[in-house]
This record gives sequence, structure tokens and C-alpha cells, in this order.
Amino acid sequence: MNSKIARFLVDRQPATPCLVFDLDRVSDNFRALRRALPLARIYYAVKANPAAPVLNALVGLGSAFDAASIEEIEACLTAGARPEDISFGNTIKKASAIARAHAAGVTMFAFDSEEELAKLAEHAPGARVYCRILVENTGADWPLSRKFGTSVAHARMLMLRAAALGLDPFGLSFHVGSQQTDPAAYRAAVARAAMLFTDLRSQGVKIRMINCGGGFPTRYRDDVPDVDHFGRAIMETITGHFGNDLPELVIEPGRAVVGDAGVIETEIVLVSRRGGSSDLRWVYLDIGRFGGLAETEGEAIRYAITTPHDGGEMGPVAIAGPTCDGADIMYERANYRLPLALAAGERVQLHATGAYTTMYASQGFNGFAPMAEYYI
Ligand SMILES: *Cc1c(COP(=O)(O)O)cnc(C)c1O
Repeated sequence: MNSKIARFLVDRQPATPCLVFDLDRVSDNFRALRRALPLARIYYAVKANPAAPVLNALVGLGSAFDAASIEEIEACLTAGARPEDISFGNTIKKASAIARAHAAGVTMFAFDSEEELAKLAEHAPGARVYCRILVENTGADWPLSRKFGTSVAHARMLMLRAAALGLDPFGLSFHVGSQQTDPAAYRAAVARAAMLFTDLRSQGVKIRMINCGGGFPTRYRDDVPDVDHFGRAIMETITGHFGNDLPELVIEPGRAVVGDAGVIETEIVLVSRRGGSSDLRWVYLDIGRFGGLAETEGEAIRYAITTPHDGGEMGPVAIAGPTCDGADIMYERANYRLPLALAAGERVQLHATGAYTTMYASQGFNGFAPMAEYYI
């Protein structure tokens, strides 16, 4: 834990559960991404953490924004983003949201179907549109490939149709899956997009942009490759295909911008040896699946945990939340071990929880309020 967050927790002793978030880390992460991919425009994926202090900091750093809804677009505008720096990146949008975004000056929209393209032609005439293609999500801890994207052959047809509908067939996008730990996933995806790009050019389509999406990982329990490895994978593949005649490049990092900037402090509600078990303890926290830890679904994202007894003797634990729902279990199979001395009433920290936590919290299931948030 960085000293700024540690000092805040000691000095303030905030009520739990709470997220303490270091805004300086957002600048560090943003600059590291820009260094790794100096030719790419960064569109921060707002859904990872839409808090106003985060958006304000990113406007100050010159970031653009990938928004999933009209509400996220409005949050970016309130933070001072220019509408031309906002991409409406969700492929599933209400007609009314498209019309409102268009009226607000947003000019860049994602799609992956005929039906969405027709909505864009009607409610955002002339807009720059980009088609999301389906790519392998192997290597990602949080895959996205079942719900979004289309085949190369279908995308080719849709991009030709976009021009015929009076839209600007601006580019192609993909997402290699979130918490993607293998740079080779970007090589394969960029190669697929690049081939289609060249094919469309030869068909007379004035396509100009490749959007490599998000996916760049945060360090949780295990080390992950440095962002430079991902930058190199993308640039080597792009230059290998296009030489010096590069398309405009976009990336949409979410997790890699905010993930390691946050720490959640939580109180232990109960440590029990259920049924008199001699070995396994159940540790119940005052935050769980419904309090914002949705990415523990399938034990996909495994947060590092620190306790007041670190260094002491450890034993195996299952870790669960405080609600009366049987699904409110974070970790049973991920081989978590915590100190034997751990007791109810003590505070523990969940690290790298700055992404995909706060806005996943329910509005009071079982009466538990969403976690407090401190941006420092
Ligand atoms: C969620 C999302 C992102 C951000 O993904 P990360 O893995 O957090 O970097 C980027 N683009 C789109 C379209 C998304 O839906």
C-alpha cells in the first residue's frame, strides 16, 4: 500500500467499508500508457471508475473518454471533456441516447449489427462510426467475447453499408478481454483488424482508425507483464502490416488506469470454524459481492489482502460477504490463506480495488449502504 493511502487510513480511521483512492496514481498510469503507445489516443473507459475526481484528473491529463451511456457522456462533459473527445463505445444504445449524444456534439459511435447501424444513421446522421469485431479472449481473466463483436465477413458488409447510409465509416475496434495478461492476444487481434482495414480500403471505404480497446492488466495477487510489452505487441503488429502509412490508433484502458490506485478497507464481521472444522476458517467481511466486489464472480479477479497480523502463522480460509444471500461468497477455491490470529472487529485491506468496484455496489441490499469513497 502506498504511504499516502496508509497515512489517510491511520489518521482518519474512516468507517468501513470504504475505498481510498490515490489520484496521483492515475497520472502515473496514464503517463505509462502514453509512453508505451505514444501514437495512440487514450480513451479512458469510464465504467471502470466514473467518479468526478478521476474524470477531472484525466481531463487535465488530456485524455479522451469511452462512454457506455448518455449518463457517462454527461459526466465527462461535466468534468470538462469536449464532446469531440468522447466516444459512445457501447454497441447497445437506446435511440433516445444516441440522439441526445449527437445533439451534445458527440461524433464517434460503436456498432456491431445492422440494427444498431440503422439507429445511428437515423439519430446521428453523418457520425463517425466504428465496427467492433470479435477476437479471441484467451488469456483474459474477465472475458467479454460472448456479448459483443461480429465476424470479419459481417463487419466488412456493415462498413460498406455504413457509407451507403450516409455515415462516416471511420474504423474498427476489438476488445481482447479484460485483465488480459498475454500480449500475444493483441498481436492476433490487431492482425485481424489490419487485414480487414486494408480490404475495406481496397473497396473504396475511407476507413482511418483502429481501436485496440482495453484489457491491459493490473497487478493483483500475481505479477503481470509491464504495459510496455503490450505497447510493443501492438506497434510491431501495426507497423508490420502498414509500414509508415499508419492508421489513427485508439486504446480504451479502464482497469490499467485506475485499478491499482485504490484500496478498500473492510472490517471482519466474523471468523468461524463452521461445523467445528479444525482446518478451514470462514472469514466474513463487511463488503462482498453486493457491496462492489462483483468481479469475484467465478473467483476471476483475486485481490491481494493485507491484515494486522501479516507475518504470523497462516491457515486456509474461505472469504465471504455480510449479506444473507448464498451467492455472497468471494473466494472458496482460490487457495487464500490468512493469519490464524485474525479476529472479528479487525480491519483488513483489499488492494488494487480502484477499478470495477464502487459502481457495482447495490443500493442497500440487506440494508448495507454502498461503500464510502475518498479521492485523495
Ligand atoms: C470495459 C471496456 C473497456 C475497458 O476495459 P479494461 O479491460 O478495463 O481496460 C474498453 N472498451 C470497451 C468497449 C469496454 O466495454
